[in-house]
Amino acid sequence: MNQQQFENFTASSLYCEKCKAAMPVRERLLLVLPDREIFDYLCTGCGSSVGRREITAGEKLLAQSMAGRRPRRSAVPHERPP
Ligand SMILES: [Zn+2]
Repeated sequence: MNQQQFENFTASSLYCEKCKAAMPVRERLLLVLPDREIFDYLCTGCGSSVGRREITAGEKLLAQSMAGRRPRRSAVPHERPP
């Protein structure tokens, strides 16, 4: 089996022309379409848009399934018998 790692498709920093440097970016949901969502990447330094990304329904499902992989703790209260 091919053990290929998933590429991280969330950009953490992009080149900003105003700041003239690679800046950390903020992801903002711009548009929701039936089959995809469009995200805008905003520079955290100056707030200008430095990139855009479309996430298809398939990618979104993948991201959701990966995000929801936390182990859940059961919310059972500790009750001791008297
Ligand atoms: Zn900037």
